Amino acid sequence: MVFENLSNKLQDTFKRLRGMGKLSEKNIEESLREVRLALLEADVNFKVVKDFIATVKERSIGQEVLNSLTPGQQVIKIVYEELTKLMGEHEAPLKLADRPPTIVMLVGLQGAGKTSTAGKMAGLLKKQGRRPLLIAADIYRPAAIKQLQVLGGQLDIPVFSLEGADPVKIARQGVEYAIAYQRDLVIIDTAGRLHVNEELMNELKEIQARVNPHEILLVIDAMTGQDAVNVANSFQETLGLTGVILTKLDSDTRGGAALSVRAVTKAPIKYVGLGEKMENLEVFHPSRMASRVLG
Ligand code: GDP
Repeated sequence: MVFENLSNKLQDTFKRLRGMGKLSEKNIEESLREVRLALLEADVNFKVVKDFIATVKERSIGQEVLNSLTPGQQVIKIVYEELTKLMGEHEAPLKLADRPPTIVMLVGLQGAGKTSTAGKMAGLLKKQGRRPLLIAADIYRPAAIKQLQVLGGQLDIPVFSLEGADPVKIARQGVEYAIAYQRDLVIIDTAGRLHVNEELMNELKEIQARVNPHEILLVIDAMTGQDAVNVANSFQETLGLTGVILTKLDSDTRGGAALSVRAVTKAPIKYVGLGEKMENLEVFHPSRMASRVLG
Protein backbone atom coordinates (compact mmCIF):
# COMPACT_ATOMS: atom_id res chain seq x y z
CA MET A 1 0.00 0.00 0.00
CA VAL A 2 1.08 3.56 -0.64
CA PHE A 3 3.41 5.19 1.91
CA GLU A 4 4.06 1.87 3.62
CA ASN A 5 7.83 2.28 3.95
CA LEU A 6 7.61 5.97 4.67
CA SER A 7 5.04 5.38 7.42
CA ASN A 8 7.11 2.66 9.01
CA LYS A 9 10.20 4.85 9.09
CA LEU A 10 8.36 7.86 10.44
CA GLN A 11 6.71 5.76 13.11
CA ASP A 12 10.12 4.59 14.34
CA THR A 13 11.43 8.14 14.47
CA PHE A 14 8.34 9.44 16.22
CA LYS A 15 8.37 6.65 18.76
CA ARG A 16 11.87 7.67 19.77
CA LEU A 17 10.84 11.34 19.88
CA ARG A 18 7.87 10.62 22.14
CA GLY A 19 10.03 8.56 24.45
CA MET A 20 12.53 11.34 25.02
CA GLY A 21 10.52 13.56 27.37
CA LYS A 22 12.46 16.81 27.19
CA LEU A 23 13.93 17.65 23.79
CA SER A 24 17.00 19.61 22.84
CA GLU A 25 17.61 21.35 19.55
CA LYS A 26 20.02 18.56 18.74
CA ASN A 27 17.37 15.85 19.31
CA ILE A 28 15.04 17.65 16.93
CA GLU A 29 17.72 18.04 14.31
CA GLU A 30 18.56 14.34 14.49
CA SER A 31 14.93 13.34 14.15
CA LEU A 32 14.38 15.68 11.24
CA ARG A 33 17.40 14.22 9.52
CA GLU A 34 15.65 10.85 9.68
CA VAL A 35 12.43 12.36 8.37
CA ARG A 36 14.35 13.94 5.52
CA LEU A 37 15.93 10.63 4.52
CA ALA A 38 12.60 8.82 4.71
CA LEU A 39 10.98 11.42 2.42
CA LEU A 40 13.81 11.20 -0.09
CA GLU A 41 13.53 7.41 -0.10
CA ALA A 42 9.82 7.78 -0.77
CA ASP A 43 10.85 9.65 -3.93
CA VAL A 44 9.64 13.07 -2.83
CA ASN A 45 11.17 15.86 -4.89
CA PHE A 46 14.52 17.03 -3.44
CA LYS A 47 13.63 20.72 -3.30
CA VAL A 48 10.26 19.96 -1.75
CA VAL A 49 11.95 17.92 1.00
CA LYS A 50 14.46 20.67 1.66
CA ASP A 51 11.82 23.37 2.09
CA PHE A 52 9.62 21.05 4.12
CA ILE A 53 12.34 20.17 6.61
CA ALA A 54 13.37 23.81 6.92
CA THR A 55 9.80 24.84 7.79
CA VAL A 56 9.28 22.02 10.29
CA LYS A 57 12.61 22.80 11.91
CA GLU A 58 11.89 26.49 12.24
CA ARG A 59 8.54 25.79 13.88
CA SER A 60 9.90 23.00 16.12
CA ILE A 61 12.86 24.80 17.57
CA GLY A 62 10.69 27.57 19.04
CA GLN A 63 10.53 27.90 22.84
CA GLU A 64 6.90 26.88 22.89
CA VAL A 65 7.69 23.40 21.66
CA LEU A 66 10.85 22.88 23.68
CA ASN A 67 9.22 24.05 26.90
CA SER A 68 5.99 22.13 26.42
CA LEU A 69 5.20 19.03 28.49
CA THR A 70 5.01 16.86 25.38
CA PRO A 71 7.59 18.28 22.99
CA GLY A 72 7.82 15.08 20.90
CA GLN A 73 4.08 15.16 20.37
CA GLN A 74 4.30 18.82 19.33
CA VAL A 75 6.92 18.06 16.70
CA ILE A 76 4.78 15.23 15.30
CA LYS A 77 1.82 17.59 15.14
CA ILE A 78 3.92 20.11 13.20
CA VAL A 79 5.01 17.41 10.73
CA TYR A 80 1.36 16.42 10.23
CA GLU A 81 0.25 20.01 9.69
CA GLU A 82 3.03 20.76 7.24
CA LEU A 83 2.37 17.55 5.30
CA THR A 84 -1.26 18.56 4.97
CA LYS A 85 -0.24 22.01 3.76
CA LEU A 86 2.17 20.48 1.28
CA MET A 87 -0.67 18.57 -0.33
CA GLY A 88 -2.91 21.61 -0.57
CA GLU A 89 -4.49 21.85 2.89
CA HIS A 90 -8.15 21.61 1.80
CA GLU A 91 -10.08 19.51 -0.67
CA ALA A 92 -10.33 21.05 -4.12
CA PRO A 93 -13.85 20.28 -5.37
CA LEU A 94 -14.68 20.20 -9.04
CA LYS A 95 -15.62 23.65 -10.33
CA LEU A 96 -19.13 23.49 -11.71
CA ALA A 97 -20.28 25.88 -14.40
CA ASP A 98 -22.91 28.47 -13.50
CA ARG A 99 -24.60 27.54 -16.72
CA PRO A 100 -24.33 23.81 -17.51
CA PRO A 101 -22.78 21.88 -19.04
CA THR A 102 -19.61 21.88 -16.97
CA ILE A 103 -16.81 20.94 -19.33
CA VAL A 104 -13.96 18.83 -17.97
CA MET A 105 -11.00 18.04 -20.17
CA LEU A 106 -8.74 15.16 -19.14
CA VAL A 107 -5.18 15.30 -20.45
CA GLY A 108 -2.07 13.21 -19.91
CA LEU A 109 0.39 10.75 -21.35
CA GLN A 110 -0.56 7.37 -22.77
CA GLY A 111 -1.11 4.77 -20.11
CA ALA A 112 -1.52 7.29 -17.30
CA GLY A 113 -5.09 6.17 -16.80
CA LYS A 114 -7.11 8.85 -18.64
CA THR A 115 -9.73 6.64 -20.21
CA SER A 116 -10.43 4.60 -17.10
CA THR A 117 -10.43 7.77 -14.98
CA ALA A 118 -12.93 9.38 -17.37
CA GLY A 119 -15.25 6.44 -16.70
CA LYS A 120 -14.62 6.47 -12.94
CA MET A 121 -15.26 10.21 -12.70
CA ALA A 122 -18.44 9.99 -14.74
CA GLY A 123 -19.66 7.15 -12.49
CA LEU A 124 -18.86 9.09 -9.31
CA LEU A 125 -20.56 12.25 -10.56
CA LYS A 126 -23.59 10.33 -11.73
CA LYS A 127 -23.96 8.97 -8.20
CA GLN A 128 -23.93 12.59 -7.01
CA GLY A 129 -26.92 13.33 -9.24
CA ARG A 130 -25.19 14.73 -12.34
CA ARG A 131 -26.00 13.74 -15.89
CA PRO A 132 -22.58 13.15 -17.43
CA LEU A 133 -21.62 12.68 -21.06
CA LEU A 134 -18.31 11.08 -22.00
CA ILE A 135 -16.59 12.30 -25.14
CA ALA A 136 -14.15 9.94 -26.86
CA ALA A 137 -11.53 12.20 -28.44
CA ASP A 138 -8.58 9.80 -28.26
CA ILE A 139 -8.60 8.90 -31.94
CA TYR A 140 -4.99 7.70 -32.10
CA ARG A 141 -5.66 4.75 -29.87
CA PRO A 142 -8.74 3.13 -31.43
CA ALA A 143 -9.04 0.80 -28.45
CA ALA A 144 -9.57 3.86 -26.24
CA ILE A 145 -12.87 4.70 -27.96
CA LYS A 146 -14.09 1.13 -27.57
CA GLN A 147 -12.85 1.08 -23.95
CA LEU A 148 -14.83 4.23 -23.17
CA GLN A 149 -17.93 2.84 -24.89
CA VAL A 150 -17.71 -0.33 -22.80
CA LEU A 151 -17.30 1.69 -19.59
CA GLY A 152 -20.19 3.96 -20.59
CA GLY A 153 -22.32 0.87 -21.21
CA GLN A 154 -21.49 -0.56 -17.79
CA LEU A 155 -22.26 2.72 -16.05
CA ASP A 156 -25.26 3.55 -18.20
CA ILE A 157 -23.70 6.83 -19.28
CA PRO A 158 -23.78 7.98 -22.94
CA VAL A 159 -20.51 8.19 -24.87
CA PHE A 160 -20.14 10.60 -27.77
CA SER A 161 -17.82 9.60 -30.63
CA LEU A 162 -17.50 10.60 -34.26
CA GLU A 163 -15.76 8.31 -36.67
CA GLY A 164 -13.20 9.90 -38.98
CA ALA A 165 -13.31 13.33 -37.30
CA ASP A 166 -10.38 15.14 -35.68
CA PRO A 167 -10.26 15.54 -31.88
CA VAL A 168 -11.17 19.24 -31.95
CA LYS A 169 -14.30 18.57 -33.98
CA ILE A 170 -15.25 15.62 -31.78
CA ALA A 171 -14.88 17.74 -28.65
CA ARG A 172 -16.91 20.64 -30.11
CA GLN A 173 -19.71 18.48 -31.41
CA GLY A 174 -19.75 16.48 -28.19
CA VAL A 175 -20.38 19.65 -26.21
CA GLU A 176 -23.19 20.61 -28.61
CA TYR A 177 -24.67 17.15 -28.14
CA ALA A 178 -24.56 17.63 -24.35
CA ILE A 179 -26.44 20.92 -24.67
CA ALA A 180 -29.03 19.41 -27.00
CA TYR A 181 -29.62 16.41 -24.73
CA GLN A 182 -29.39 18.23 -21.39
CA ARG A 183 -26.31 16.49 -20.11
CA ASP A 184 -24.97 18.83 -17.42
CA LEU A 185 -21.39 17.59 -17.24
CA VAL A 186 -19.05 16.67 -20.05
CA ILE A 187 -15.81 14.70 -19.67
CA ILE A 188 -13.50 14.78 -22.67
CA ASP A 189 -11.02 11.90 -22.93
CA THR A 190 -8.20 13.34 -25.04
CA ALA A 191 -5.34 11.51 -26.73
CA GLY A 192 -1.99 11.07 -25.01
CA ARG A 193 1.45 10.30 -26.39
CA LEU A 194 4.30 8.29 -24.96
CA HIS A 195 6.18 11.49 -24.11
CA VAL A 196 5.39 15.17 -23.87
CA ASN A 197 5.79 16.64 -27.36
CA GLU A 198 4.77 19.65 -29.38
CA GLU A 199 2.20 17.83 -31.47
CA LEU A 200 0.37 16.71 -28.33
CA MET A 201 0.48 20.12 -26.70
CA ASN A 202 -0.71 21.90 -29.86
CA GLU A 203 -3.63 19.55 -30.20
CA LEU A 204 -4.63 20.01 -26.56
CA LYS A 205 -4.24 23.79 -26.79
CA GLU A 206 -6.56 23.83 -29.76
CA ILE A 207 -9.22 21.75 -28.04
CA GLN A 208 -8.88 23.99 -25.00
CA ALA A 209 -9.33 27.12 -27.11
CA ARG A 210 -12.37 25.73 -28.89
CA VAL A 211 -14.34 24.24 -25.99
CA ASN A 212 -13.25 26.53 -23.16
CA PRO A 213 -13.20 23.89 -20.40
CA HIS A 214 -14.06 24.80 -16.82
CA GLU A 215 -11.61 22.21 -15.65
CA ILE A 216 -8.47 20.95 -17.32
CA LEU A 217 -7.23 18.04 -15.27
CA LEU A 218 -3.96 16.24 -15.77
CA VAL A 219 -4.04 12.50 -15.17
CA ILE A 220 -0.66 11.24 -13.97
CA ASP A 221 0.63 7.86 -12.98
CA ALA A 222 1.95 7.99 -9.40
CA MET A 223 4.20 5.02 -10.10
CA THR A 224 6.39 7.19 -12.32
CA GLY A 225 7.47 9.21 -9.26
CA GLN A 226 9.66 12.20 -10.02
CA ASP A 227 8.86 11.85 -13.69
CA ALA A 228 5.17 12.36 -12.95
CA VAL A 229 6.07 15.68 -11.37
CA ASN A 230 8.17 16.75 -14.38
CA VAL A 231 5.36 15.81 -16.75
CA ALA A 232 2.95 17.82 -14.60
CA ASN A 233 5.22 20.83 -14.86
CA SER A 234 5.27 20.69 -18.67
CA PHE A 235 1.50 20.47 -18.90
CA GLN A 236 1.11 23.20 -16.33
CA GLU A 237 3.36 25.57 -18.29
CA THR A 238 1.65 24.92 -21.61
CA LEU A 239 -2.01 24.57 -20.70
CA GLY A 240 -2.47 26.04 -17.24
CA LEU A 241 -4.01 23.14 -15.35
CA THR A 242 -6.89 23.56 -12.93
CA GLY A 243 -6.00 20.32 -11.18
CA VAL A 244 -4.36 16.94 -11.13
CA ILE A 245 -5.63 13.38 -10.80
CA LEU A 246 -3.07 10.91 -9.46
CA THR A 247 -3.65 7.32 -10.52
CA LYS A 248 -2.24 4.00 -9.33
CA LEU A 249 -1.64 5.17 -5.80
CA ASP A 250 -2.66 1.64 -4.82
CA SER A 251 0.39 0.21 -6.54
CA ASP A 252 3.06 2.73 -5.60
CA THR A 253 4.43 2.04 -2.16
CA ARG A 254 6.55 5.19 -2.12
CA GLY A 255 3.97 7.83 -3.00
CA GLY A 256 6.47 10.64 -3.62
CA ALA A 257 4.40 12.10 -6.45
CA ALA A 258 1.46 12.64 -4.10
CA LEU A 259 3.67 14.65 -1.78
CA SER A 260 5.47 16.68 -4.45
CA VAL A 261 3.10 17.50 -7.26
CA ARG A 262 1.10 20.19 -5.53
CA ALA A 263 4.17 22.00 -4.20
CA VAL A 264 5.94 21.92 -7.57
CA THR A 265 3.05 22.79 -9.90
CA LYS A 266 0.68 24.66 -7.54
CA ALA A 267 -2.14 22.69 -9.18
CA PRO A 268 -4.41 21.04 -6.62
CA ILE A 269 -4.83 17.26 -6.55
CA LYS A 270 -8.57 16.77 -7.07
CA TYR A 271 -8.94 12.98 -7.22
CA VAL A 272 -6.83 9.89 -6.65
CA GLY A 273 -7.11 6.52 -8.35
CA LEU A 274 -6.75 3.60 -5.98
CA GLY A 275 -7.36 0.58 -8.21
CA GLU A 276 -8.57 -0.64 -11.57
CA LYS A 277 -12.24 -0.98 -10.68
CA MET A 278 -14.75 1.73 -11.56
CA GLU A 279 -15.39 2.55 -7.91
CA ASN A 280 -11.68 3.06 -7.18
CA LEU A 281 -11.60 6.84 -7.55
CA GLU A 282 -11.78 9.13 -4.55
CA VAL A 283 -11.86 12.84 -3.89
CA PHE A 284 -8.43 13.78 -2.56
CA HIS A 285 -8.30 14.84 1.10
CA PRO A 286 -4.90 16.32 2.04
CA SER A 287 -5.38 15.84 5.78
CA ARG A 288 -6.46 12.20 5.42
CA MET A 289 -3.49 11.53 3.19
CA ALA A 290 -1.20 13.16 5.76
CA SER A 291 -2.66 10.86 8.44
CA ARG A 292 -1.96 7.90 6.21
CA VAL A 293 1.65 9.01 5.81
CA LEU A 294 2.07 9.23 9.57
CA GLY A 295 0.49 5.78 9.89
P1 GDP B 1 -4.82 6.04 -20.87
O1 GDP B 1 -3.89 5.58 -21.95
O2 GDP B 1 -4.27 7.24 -20.17
O3 GDP B 1 -6.23 6.24 -21.33
O4 GDP B 1 -4.81 4.88 -19.76
P2 GDP B 1 -5.90 3.77 -19.39
O5 GDP B 1 -7.12 4.39 -18.80
O6 GDP B 1 -6.11 2.85 -20.54
O7 GDP B 1 -5.14 3.02 -18.18
C1 GDP B 1 -3.94 2.31 -18.37
C2 GDP B 1 -3.90 1.16 -17.37
O8 GDP B 1 -3.80 1.64 -16.05
C3 GDP B 1 -5.14 0.29 -17.40
O9 GDP B 1 -4.76 -1.06 -17.30
C4 GDP B 1 -5.91 0.73 -16.16
O10 GDP B 1 -6.73 -0.29 -15.64
C5 GDP B 1 -4.78 1.06 -15.22
N1 GDP B 1 -5.17 2.00 -14.16
C6 GDP B 1 -5.74 3.23 -14.30
N2 GDP B 1 -5.93 3.81 -13.09
C7 GDP B 1 -5.49 2.93 -12.16
C8 GDP B 1 -5.40 2.96 -10.71
O11 GDP B 1 -5.77 3.93 -10.02
N3 GDP B 1 -4.86 1.86 -10.12
C9 GDP B 1 -4.42 0.77 -10.84
N4 GDP B 1 -3.90 -0.25 -10.18
N5 GDP B 1 -4.47 0.73 -12.17
C10 GDP B 1 -5.00 1.79 -12.84
